[in-house]
Amino acid sequence: MSEHNGYALRLHVLGSGSKGNCALIEGPQGLIMIDNGFSRREVLRRMHELGLDEHDVRALLLTHEHTDHVSGISVWCRAFDVELYASIGTPETRAYLNELDFCEFVPGLRFEVAGVDVQTFATSHDVVNPVGFRFDCGGDSIGYATDTGCLSDFALDALSDARVIALESNHDVPMLRTGSYPRYLQDRIISDAGHLSNDQAAEAAERIVGSHTEQLVAMHISQENNRPSLAVRSFAAALGAELDDELGSTATLARGGSGSDLHIRAAGQNRPITIA
Ligand SMILES: [Zn+2]
Ligand SMILES: [Zn+2]
Repeated sequence: MSEHNGYALRLHVLGSGSKGNCALIEGPQGLIMIDNGFSRREVLRRMHELGLDEHDVRALLLTHEHTDHVSGISVWCRAFDVELYASIGTPETRAYLNELDFCEFVPGLRFEVAGVDVQTFATSHDVVNPVGFRFDCGGDSIGYATDTGCLSDFALDALSDARVIALESNHDVPMLRTGSYPRYLQDRIISDAGHLSNDQAAEAAERIVGSHTEQLVAMHISQENNRPSLAVRSFAAALGAELDDELGSTATLARGGSGSDLHIRAAGQNRPITIA
């Protein structure tokens, strides 16, 4: 698993959303898993669908302790030997996490995993020390931020100009406000400790998408209060990209002679994708 198409890193999203989250960074020495919120069987099925081998997973990093991100971890760790990383305090939030042997880090710390440089940064969510990540290897880079009500300047700087950016675009505010969720839940989602709306994600994208950014992926899209096409359209409008089709499922910002094009798409809850 060395370089692909001249790039050192790949992002595989097995699933993203409130019913389960799991993604993998493919680097020169194997796979780094981000969250494990599906059954082992489901993770394996999705990995195999993308041609990935579970024995290549070297490490597992947690963003935070919500069930949709950690429910599969105990069973996974019984079957496979992986290094575990979580922010300080996260393992103590649940008995079944606390039984595992985590390397705990302070948000903002930088460390190396499987030949990949990992920059952590604090996100803003109603849990203990939630985090996002930037991965750097051989001049290639991937930024990853989900489950955050807002992004600090530190987080925006960490994500800035990564080649691949996976960014939460959780809800459309009008859909959320007129939808079936009770008011208290709507307020929680909209709060600074909730989730990024399409508009907030688009505003962040304007700041962090740079000339080296080739892939922008909308993450953690609500099945109740959003549509993948709304998230893609929102990103496209903010960045001046054109929709690739009437459905608006993908969009492209053509940069002509000045560099590689930027591709915009959405990760789904049930369809695993590879971002090369
Ligand atoms: Zn989540
Ligand atoms: Zn969460």
